[in-house]
Amino acid sequence: MDLRQGFDIARYIRAIPDYPKPGIIFRDITTLFSNPYGFRASVDELMWPFLQENIDYVVGIEARGFILGGAIAHELGCGFIPIRKKGKLPAQTIGQDYTLEYGVDTIEIHADAIQDGDRILLVDDLIATGGTAMAAVELIKRSGGEVVAACFVIDLPDLGGSAKLIEAGVKFHKLVEFEGD
Ligand code: AMP
Repeated sequence: MDLRQGFDIARYIRAIPDYPKPGIIFRDITTLFSNPYGFRASVDELMWPFLQENIDYVVGIEARGFILGGAIAHELGCGFIPIRKKGKLPAQTIGQDYTLEYGVDTIEIHADAIQDGDRILLVDDLIATGGTAMAAVELIKRSGGEVVAACFVIDLPDLGGSAKLIEAGVKFHKLVEFEGD
């Protein structure tokens, strides 16, 4: 491992065929996160473009976006706000339906979490069809926040999510990409 050449993030992401259903290749980042160089490299490389961007909050998407988002918020010295699956947040929420690569669901954010004009960095582990990320962008905008960028460890460009974000005018940052789904 020659860290002067950067850490090879893609090498530490495990591919699980046919999970959670036949035809899906699940990109498992637990093997990246359990490596001490892997976790630090992922967090650092996701957040460095935004060090001077005056981010007010990192918004992380349940559940793997919490692991990354908490560490990134700590490094940026800003707050962290969770977006969770329907029914998990205790106070008043606003919700948004979305289509997942493997299903349909609703995500929610606390209605009072974001104030008008807050500068937000959106974080998740992976973007596939972009349904989740676009719903999260919608929730942030409806809350009055400005999405400075959305960042992901993994992009699956063939599924079109990153193109959707860029088309919607959202700045997009990813660390690795894999062909196919
Ligand atoms: P999508 O809404 O289609 O962009 O899906 C993104 C969300 O679903 C992220 O929160 C991912 O964690 C999860 N996800 C979708 N497809 C995969 C996959 N092939 N491997 C791992 N996680 C995935």
